Amino acid sequence: MLFSDVMHQDAAVRQIQRALRVGRVPHAIVLSGPEGVGKEMLAERLAAVLLCAEPRETPPPEEGAGSPNAWLNACGRCTDCELFSAGSHPDFHRIYRTLNKLHPDKAIRKRKAIDLGVDVIRHFLIDPIGLRPARGRAKAYVVVEADRLNDSAQNALLKTLEEPPGHSYLILLSSSGDALLPTTRSRCRQIQLRPLPADFVARRLVEKCGVQPAAARFLAELTNGSLGLAIQRSEEDLLKRVPAVFRAVEHAAKDPFAGGRDLIELCDEIAKEFKGDSEALAADKTALGRRAQCLVLSVVSTVFRDALRLMVGRPPAACENEPAVAALARQSSISRIGSSIRQLAAAERQINQNGNKGLIFDSVGIAINHAFRPGV
Ligand SMILES: [Zn+2]
Repeated sequence: MLFSDVMHQDAAVRQIQRALRVGRVPHAIVLSGPEGVGKEMLAERLAAVLLCAEPRETPPPEEGAGSPNAWLNACGRCTDCELFSAGSHPDFHRIYRTLNKLHPDKAIRKRKAIDLGVDVIRHFLIDPIGLRPARGRAKAYVVVEADRLNDSAQNALLKTLEEPPGHSYLILLSSSGDALLPTTRSRCRQIQLRPLPADFVARRLVEKCGVQPAAARFLAELTNGSLGLAIQRSEEDLLKRVPAVFRAVEHAAKDPFAGGRDLIELCDEIAKEFKGDSEALAADKTALGRRAQCLVLSVVSTVFRDALRLMVGRPPAACENEPAVAALARQSSISRIGSSIRQLAAAERQINQNGNKGLIFDSVGIAINHAFRPGV
């Protein structure tokens, strides 16, 4: 478990390494960046080195032995590292939404975990964090999907973030730094991770998942440099749905509400397919619905981005075999596409806030129509 496993995030890794070298790792950190670019990987490596009995120095990638900037990594051999790798280190804690299913209070267990709520944060983080580390060295808490912490959970957490017990480290993972309240952000060191290069994502999909190269390029583009998301999309067999999304976009260019309804039908079909995938998710129909809606919206976004590329004389990145996109681009303008892309981003936020599907896809249909309506 080496920091060099975290690819294409040099700035973030170096920031953490500098803090490790001078022995001043902040006790509250926000790692922010798009989904699936290595936040959790980086958080785990930081936690591992903080808990390791004998961290060792290794030269950074591309610098030889004897480099003055040696990186500190967990040794991989001590008891702490063994426990960590086995997923059973008593001082490493992952905090996530559905921990409510393990809460002692039955009423809380029964709740749908749309947010990361205050009850979970109190029981699994705030209350136990002050206790001494079981193995004496440190305690590390990684809050995944910290952008789902609701306001009361964040407010409850403020005091802990402000004065974390000396042995404890809190690492919050957030898909966007802005998703957290300013009061939370100001108490944490912000470390930003970047989208991964599309070429790297496409190559990984081909090598690790056996995806065909053209499909890999499409998925890399679709997911905006998020390898985790691209892998998920490839497993969801999204590609067979793509032509239908294009047809719905063409339909919405002529009739926004009819096109919007086509998109909703696609969302519903995809959500049904997801159902078999994951037992945990199947219990939460709204989560499946949201996932399908985000997926369809992301395909719509690639049409917009490729239309923009074509307009400035660049080749399309995702829809290379799609003449419809070129036709749509010819009947649009950069400013119309720009304002429609902003509307799509707003629609995505509404999906994540569990907004009304009908209203959201009406607005998506209108955004498509605004951008691509013929004869404007
Ligand atoms: Zn170790």
